[in-house]
Amino acid sequence: MVAHLKSCGVIKSKKVAEVMETIDRALFVPEGTPPYDDSPMQIGYNATISAPHMHATCLELLEDYLKPGMHALDVGSDSANLKIALLVGTGYLTACFAVMVGPQGHAVGVEHIPELAESSIKNIEKSAAAPLLKEGSLSIHVGDGRQGWPEFAPYDCIHVGAAAPEIPPALVEQLKPGGRLVIPVGNLFQDLQVVDKNMDGTLSVRSETGVRYVPLTSREAQLRGL
Ligand code: SAH
Repeated sequence: MVAHLKSCGVIKSKKVAEVMETIDRALFVPEGTPPYDDSPMQIGYNATISAPHMHATCLELLEDYLKPGMHALDVGSDSANLKIALLVGTGYLTACFAVMVGPQGHAVGVEHIPELAESSIKNIEKSAAAPLLKEGSLSIHVGDGRQGWPEFAPYDCIHVGAAAPEIPPALVEQLKPGGRLVIPVGNLFQDLQVVDKNMDGTLSVRSETGVRYVPLTSREAQLRGL
């Protein structure tokens, strides 16, 4: 899978290749699902695990914001290197983020379906990210991701794995100046937007590519299949 993504130019970074080899996707997909096929797969509750090329694209876009914990520059601040991977789903990407930021960083996952949050924890416990979950540099929370997770804000980077009709203001607020938010925006037609918060607080927004994600919505609407 990783060799294929490299050969078609989706993975350019050595670190992204390494982390996608370290976290075995087979541990995160439901039984009977071909884990390495390059397409999204149903995981129940009207949710999907994104295709490997989408995971790779998001990791590439965020690589520079997923460096191992560095606290030298921010002495006394425990928010030196916090990250957030919203909308856990299977937990695959959250585990990749956690491995990239390492034990000094913090990967925070938010998921609104309690059963998915629970199964993501079970998946992570089987994976190479298990020690990070155990010692707390990876944490999974049940909640509405449109509100972010203020407890650990501000974040160096935020990834959203479901499409929002517009960029949720709480996520922009919880992003550090100099940080990056990657989020699919739109309804039927969606753009993967890369939102950089400049040091003066202004935003630079660009569209990376057209995408198709499940909606970022309320729990009730998702379970109704809207
Ligand atoms: N990156 C994940 C994406 C899973 S699909 C993966 O590849 O496994 C998107 C997830 O977003 C689903 O699990 C869905 O339950 C969740 N979701 C949708 N709207 C949400 C909201 N408002 N708050 C929290 N989670 C949400």
